[in-house]
Amino acid sequence: MQNSQYLSAALLTWYAQNRRELPWRNTSDPYAIWISEIMLQQTQVETVIDYYHRFLNGFPDVARLGQAEEEDVLSLWKGLGYYTRARNILRAARVILEKFDGVFPTVYTDIRSLPGIGDYTAGAIASIAYNLSYPAVDGNVLRIISRLDGIEEDISLQKTKTRITARAAGLIPDGKAGDFNQALMDLGATVCVPKDPKCTVSCPWQTECSAHRDGKESILPIKKKAKKPIEYHYAAAVIRRNADILMTKRQADALLANMWGLPLVCLESGISPETRFGHEWGLEVTNTVYLGHVKHVFSHQIWQIDVYSMTLNDESQVDGDHNDRPLAWVSPERLKTLPVPKAFQKVLSLGSFF
Ligand code: SF4
Repeated sequence: MQNSQYLSAALLTWYAQNRRELPWRNTSDPYAIWISEIMLQQTQVETVIDYYHRFLNGFPDVARLGQAEEEDVLSLWKGLGYYTRARNILRAARVILEKFDGVFPTVYTDIRSLPGIGDYTAGAIASIAYNLSYPAVDGNVLRIISRLDGIEEDISLQKTKTRITARAAGLIPDGKAGDFNQALMDLGATVCVPKDPKCTVSCPWQTECSAHRDGKESILPIKKKAKKPIEYHYAAAVIRRNADILMTKRQADALLANMWGLPLVCLESGISPETRFGHEWGLEVTNTVYLGHVKHVFSHQIWQIDVYSMTLNDESQVDGDHNDRPLAWVSPERLKTLPVPKAFQKVLSLGSFF
């Protein structure tokens, strides 16, 4: 038997006995599989499960999603992070309505053409929903195959990815692409994990694996270090009017675009937060009280936020021009429905709003 045939058969046998029961495994609906795959990018399975059910309850099909307002989609995504994913899902649903008559495309290149869908997600949807023979190569698969074949090249390089993608494609057994790709996902999540892979305990590939044979499991894959995130220091203003709080809709080109947060200013040494809010927002504030500090880590930025309670001298300033960042008084009821990202939820919790 060819090495690849043995590997495929061994993995599928292992999968039949060890597959994880996940909500999106009980459907062949490409829409549901798409939503799950996008949510699973950069997010743990345990976290995704609740969001997946909530999202499908809110938007059960492409038609309902494509007609939704961005704010409602972001609101259901609230707390999951990486909000570009939610914006792209909405954009893609609209493309499906306009270009594909509301039917999720069945051809790989059409799926791949949708906003927010790259090679991995297109391969995952095409194989899981339609059993089309495409690989789905993410970080897990890069790690597994580089260990399996003892690849000592940087997996962040395109040429290494291309090599591993070709190897993964060659392992897909006829008519079993969906199961094979999901088996690899499960192997990466439960056995060939980044630290201390369970080679001898439960890996179906241990007899064939180069890294295991050579004792290189802990040094493979080779990956160059990601750039250090840039750190920003902000002050956030918690300004109340009775039970309401002053909030702003973030600019369309900012990080956390079109989501709702508190007015922020960059902190500069020697300049007080009050002065900065006056310059940047045109808000005259007094009675500044320090409430605490919040740190929020994004993939490429770290926000260090000093949070202050402040009093607005003149409420008419709320209606002024704030550089395309509209301000509004938000009631506690409305706050529950607005798309407020985690960073600002942490800030609001210091002001007892979350
Ligand atoms: Fe990964 Fe170990 Fe299996 Fe190799 S033997 S594929 S390193 S779990």
